[in-house]
Amino acid sequence: MSLRGNVLDMPELPDIVAYLDALEERVGDQVLQRVRVASPFLLRSVSPPLREAEGRKVRGLRRVGKRVVFALEGDLFLVVHLMIAGRFKWREAGAKIPGRLGLAAFDFESGTLMLTEASKKKRASLHLVAGEEGLAALDPGGIEIFDIDLETFRETLVRGNHTLKRALTDPRLFSGIGNAYSDEILHRARLSPFKLGAKLDDDEVARLWEAVRQVLSEWMERLRAEAAGGFPEKVTAFRPEMAVHGKYGEPCPVCEAPVQRIVYAQNEANYCAPCQTGGKLLADRALSRLLKKDWPRSLEELEEHKAQRREP
Ligand SMILES: [Zn+2]
Repeated sequence: MSLRGNVLDMPELPDIVAYLDALEERVGDQVLQRVRVASPFLLRSVSPPLREAEGRKVRGLRRVGKRVVFALEGDLFLVVHLMIAGRFKWREAGAKIPGRLGLAAFDFESGTLMLTEASKKKRASLHLVAGEEGLAALDPGGIEIFDIDLETFRETLVRGNHTLKRALTDPRLFSGIGNAYSDEILHRARLSPFKLGAKLDDDEVARLWEAVRQVLSEWMERLRAEAAGGFPEKVTAFRPEMAVHGKYGEPCPVCEAPVQRIVYAQNEANYCAPCQTGGKLLADRALSRLLKKDWPRSLEELEEHKAQRREP
C-alpha cells in the first residue's frame, strides 16, 4: 500500500504490466485448480458461478485498464481490480489465506496466487465473465497509449475539455494512467496539471504525447528490471526515482525548486512551479473553483463507475 499523509494511489499500467509478466511466467498454461474466497465483498459477479473457473487452464494474461485478466479456456475471463490497496503475492501451493488482509487464493500446481488488501475498506473486486462481450462490459473504454497515433491522442485530450490532470487519469479517456504517473508525465511535458486539454497548442500536444510514452516505457522497463524474474512484492506508487510524485518539498530534479502539492478530495497532485506553471503557485480561489469543476474528485469513483458495487 502506498501512503503519504492521507493520500493513496492505485497500481497503474507499469505496475500491472510487471504483475502480468510475473503471472505469465508462473501460471500461463497452468490449470486453475481452485479459487478460495475469504472476503464476502470481493466477488462482484454471479453468473457464471465462480466454481466454473476451476479446473480450467489459463490461456493467457491480459490487462483491461487497471484490471488484471486471466483468460481461461472455455472463453471465460477472471478479472481482478486491485483498486488502491489490493496486491498479489506468490506463495507455496495451498498456502493459508492471511487472516486480516487476505481476500482470496488462486491455487495452481506451481503455487498459490494470494490476493490481499491492506485497507479496512474492501474495494478490490473479482468478476468471472463469459466471452469477449462479458469482458468488454468491464472495460471503462479508455484508449491504450501505445496503440494510438498523435492525432487520436489530440482528439481524446480535446474531447470534453478537461484539465490535463483529469483527462490523463480518467479511465474512460486513457487506459491505465492514475495519480502517480500523471504527475510524472505532466512534469516531463512541462505542463500545468490545470491546463485545459483543448487549450494546448501543437507543440504542447506533441510534448505531452512524447512524455506519456516516454514515462510509461521507462517505468515499465525499470519495474521489469527490478523484478528480474521474481514476483513483484513491493508495488507502490511512491518511488525514489520519481521526479515529483510523492516528493512534496523535495527539490525538482530538473530545476531544484521545491516540489509543490495540491491536496483535494483525497487526491494529491505534485508539480514543479518553475518547470510547469511559469512559477505560479496554484492555490488561489480560481483554483478551488476549477478543482470543484474539473478535478478527479476521487480516483476510486472514476474507476468504479461501471462496477456493480456491493456495499457492506
Ligand atoms: Zn523544476
